[in-house]
Amino acid sequence: SPRRLAAGNWKMNGDLAALTQIDALCDAFPDPGCDILICPPALLIHPVKGRIGAHPIALGGQDCHTRSSGAHTGDISAVQLKDVGADYVIVGHSERRADHGETDDDIAAKAAAAHEADLIAIICVGETEAQRDSGQTLEVIETQLAGSVPPGATALNTVIAYEPVWAIGSGRTPTKDQIAEVHGRIRAVLAQRIRDAADLRLLYGGSVKPSNAAEIFAIADVDGALVGGASLKADDFGAIIRAL
Ligand code: 13P
Repeated sequence: SPRRLAAGNWKMNGDLAALTQIDALCDAFPDPGCDILICPPALLIHPVKGRIGAHPIALGGQDCHTRSSGAHTGDISAVQLKDVGADYVIVGHSERRADHGETDDDIAAKAAAAHEADLIAIICVGETEAQRDSGQTLEVIETQLAGSVPPGATALNTVIAYEPVWAIGSGRTPTKDQIAEVHGRIRAVLAQRIRDAADLRLLYGGSVKPSNAAEIFAIADVDGALVGGASLKADDFGAIIRAL
């Protein structure tokens, strides 16, 4: 099974003063037993990179444009993320799908741009509460996978994050069986398209915290987590990393 990944998505949180949280993580995990990734606001990638030096914590963006450069005011390209030290980029987070109207097509193009720039794309999928309540969860996930995972995706350049929209920032999580069902389906669907799908990391995201991390990481086909709120404090994120 693949090397596990603890990914922190800081969203629109953090500032230069928060770099002390990165220092604390570096000190706590001099030789981590899993991959550790921080996706701070893009502004902070370069200073964080300078701060961590040779420590193996990886950095990622939270979004990228589909083009590598050009007249796109306010946007950031995958090539630019790579240039300042990122190895990953999150694409298709539900907050981008909702706040910016991103479609599966947009997300597939962004993931392809990430691959082109030699970044690992973390493609997010997940159902809303209404979709779960009406029994559409697996159908929604399959549609999102079919539309947002680009040709050329492999276990090395792609990570899938299952983030139920209703679990994000809510303190609520699906049951173990619900997570296992969705992750199993994601693996099975990808296996039809990607030769090395068994090695592709599937992250769970949505209200992961120190108190539930071990239980979530014990679920079949969960290869790590994409953590929002609990990634902002090195103590909390450290406890989640230890649970991996
Ligand atoms: P929370 O961990 O704050 O629920 O956020 C999850 C998330 O959206 C990570 O991308």
